[in-house]
Amino acid sequence: MGEMKNEKEYSVMGKVWVAGAGPGDAGLLTVRTAELMRTADVIVYDALISAEILSHIPQTAETIYVGKHSGNHPVPQDEINRILVREAKKGKNVLRLKGGDPFVFGRGGEELELLAEEGIDFEVIPGVTSSVAVPAYAGIPVTHRDYTSSFHVITGHAKKDGTLHIDFESLVKLNGTLVFLMSLSSMGMILKGLMDAGMDPEMPAAVLENGTTAGQRRVVATVSTLKEESDRAGIGTPAMIVVGKVCTLADKLHWAEDRPLGSRQFLLTRPRQNMSVLADRLRRLGAQVIEMPAIRTEPIRSNERLGTALREFAEAGGEGWLVFTSPIGVDVFWEQLQEQKIDVRNIFCGRTEVKTAAIGTATAKALLRYGIMADLVPEVYSAGELGTKLARTAAEGARILIARAEKGSEELIPPLEEAGLAVEDIALYRTVYEVNPVLREEVERMIDAGEIDAVTFTSASTVHGFTEAMGEIDYGKIRAVCIGRQTALAAEQFGMNVEISEQATMDSMVEKILKTFCANG
Ligand code: SAH
Repeated sequence: MGEMKNEKEYSVMGKVWVAGAGPGDAGLLTVRTAELMRTADVIVYDALISAEILSHIPQTAETIYVGKHSGNHPVPQDEINRILVREAKKGKNVLRLKGGDPFVFGRGGEELELLAEEGIDFEVIPGVTSSVAVPAYAGIPVTHRDYTSSFHVITGHAKKDGTLHIDFESLVKLNGTLVFLMSLSSMGMILKGLMDAGMDPEMPAAVLENGTTAGQRRVVATVSTLKEESDRAGIGTPAMIVVGKVCTLADKLHWAEDRPLGSRQFLLTRPRQNMSVLADRLRRLGAQVIEMPAIRTEPIRSNERLGTALREFAEAGGEGWLVFTSPIGVDVFWEQLQEQKIDVRNIFCGRTEVKTAAIGTATAKALLRYGIMADLVPEVYSAGELGTKLARTAAEGARILIARAEKGSEELIPPLEEAGLAVEDIALYRTVYEVNPVLREEVERMIDAGEIDAVTFTSASTVHGFTEAMGEIDYGKIRAVCIGRQTALAAEQFGMNVEISEQATMDSMVEKILKTFCANG
């Protein structure tokens, strides 16, 4: 009987993955951890997880923050342990996300002990530890045959009584590279300890702040001067101290901040379904990129208005235009044809001579996927321009069927009506505003602190989505890179400082960003 009960208990039990999220750069997440971030039911995460990484968490995941805020007390370790057990017992797949590697001063071991006692299934996913990656991004190899044959990772965390329990004599004898984590506030004691134990005061040493992120900084000096230099530069947490001859290599081997966008951080707003081409391009140029899908599109199912309008359109005779204003609109249109069992021949081979118009090249490309070549694509991407061009091109008395978002631009229709054309505006989908609250708060803080160089907008609706999702923020602090006039106008209305790409393409957006933000050219 007892055994039966245990088995039943086990079958509803969830599982915990204790995973490292790396030092900050989202590119240093392991494939395994990234995968779990997409699939976990609950994500329990620390303070050191960057916004770039948080932006990978899907809307559907529950998130529990157990890090400390400055001034606030940290969540006690046994409470974190209890949260993990509680969630797993609910049958959830729990991802415990920790900075760096979970077993390198990450208390991963302590968290596993309780799980083991409770008989909860777990796995450990090692992460890229900051103790190696942060020096690497600063151009400091932790070992080098000419300088050192070992490296050592030491906690610089002081005990409650303010003392350090570090055997400095032994450390100095090792002649290896010394990496001190959690060491900023005890820097003075550490450096003095090393010199008192006989280390050459001229030994190179470095302090590395916010490594692997857009905000990374380094100060290289010697053990006798590092404290002063670090204070002068105003180095803050998170930071680590590296001691050893390898530190001199940073002068020659620094690279991360030299990438075209190496010290830049961008916030990308975009519809959730769109591919993140822009994000990939910017990351390749060295930028840190937070993706915040501000809007999601929701197709209108069983769209009877569309069905009726299409049948009338096909039977009317004369010339008729189908007008599309977004790639999503094109996809939803064809989904609806399928759902309503409307054969494309009934539309394109009916009495009406059907022509198609697309607002821009992306929309035209989407049409091409369905075998339709757009008859009209305005050179300038804007609803007003599309309306004007179409009014000039369409035959007298032509019927115009616009298939687009529920609240489409108001500039499209007036030029068409002025030209005496019969216009029907059919909503295919609506946009829903949503943002992960965890990410929202962090982004609000970053905007206020000036940590985000620019926010990109690819449509006026992303501007509205973004502003609806944000709380009270000072839009005057935002530089907005916009894809066209309409988008820029929307951003300007909120008081953002606007840059506009020359053309309505991703290439042009990237070019604009490089021109505006490239630090080295
Ligand atoms: N488990 C983590 C370390 C946790 S201890 C790991 O493997 O990386 C936290 C300390 O790590 C911080 O006090 C700081 O010394 C260091 N650290 C973590 N991320 C850092 C970063 N991006 N830049 C500089 N130091 C960092």
